[in-house]
Amino acid sequence: MLQAQHLTKTFGSLAAVADISFDLLAGQTLAILGPSGCGKSTLLALLAGLVRPDSGSVLWEGQPLDDTPTHRRNFGLMFQDYALFPHLNVADNVAFGLHGPDKHRAAANMLARLDLAGFEKRDVQTLSGGEAQRVALARALAPRPRLLMLDEPLGALDRALREQLTAELRGLLGEFGQTAIYVTHDQQEAFGIADQLLVMQNGRAIQLADPETVYRHPATDWVRRFLGPARLASGRVAADGIHTDLGWWPAPPGDALHMGDEVTLLVRAEGVRKR
Ligand code: ADP
Ligand code: MG
Repeated sequence: MLQAQHLTKTFGSLAAVADISFDLLAGQTLAILGPSGCGKSTLLALLAGLVRPDSGSVLWEGQPLDDTPTHRRNFGLMFQDYALFPHLNVADNVAFGLHGPDKHRAAANMLARLDLAGFEKRDVQTLSGGEAQRVALARALAPRPRLLMLDEPLGALDRALREQLTAELRGLLGEFGQTAIYVTHDQQEAFGIADQLLVMQNGRAIQLADPETVYRHPATDWVRRFLGPARLASGRVAADGIHTDLGWWPAPPGDALHMGDEVTLLVRAEGVRKR
């Protein structure tokens, strides 16, 4: 569906986005994960056509979008600051991007899907942060854009609410077959939503893989540390498992290991059980 090819954007001497390429398949969610300032929002702006790349290209179904302006790309965008229209009520906010006689029914359905039935007439300024973000999600999803891009959409919410909304959003995206890009600096959110994960550092794509691969086989030491506390143990594969300087460990399932291999074992606290 979407292809990013060698996208690069510099601001002065800073390479905010440096030679980033990826493909996104229809119906999949790509999470872009990296610390603040690593270039995530700039990458989204390049994809949306809000910023022109210095080099590289964005393609949709094989067609370059270089000359397609933002409003004709049919991409939806949602940001952390909900940007709800303060003068419109909840239903009119959600119906804003919709057309035709059924638009209010479609808006009401979408609100119901986000547990907001009965909120139609509410003034958006009376909503809690979590409710406002649900309305913003409903508004972003309602027009069914061919690509939905979410830039740290839950960043202002507390941890419990973020977890709940991440799970709900993943369910909705899957159910709608919505192709999406989800930008966050939060590892848990990224792992909670992603089919594919792009890890960014200083404008570069450090790793592009499915979440399990990133978790189990981080491409660099930096990625490993960014994903949370873990110990490395060097060892050797034996018939009964792996013997390391941190003791004996069973061989991780799914990895092609051979007797006598020298290996480095990545041990995460949540992967260890007492017995
Ligand atoms: P992120 O979204 O990952 O926090 P950004 O894409 O917003 O990162 O920014 C990446 C880098 O590019 C930052 O160092 C930021 O200061 C810089 N940057 C972003 N936009 C501009 C701009 N319009 N002019 C100059 N520098 C910018
Ligand atoms: Mg950003």
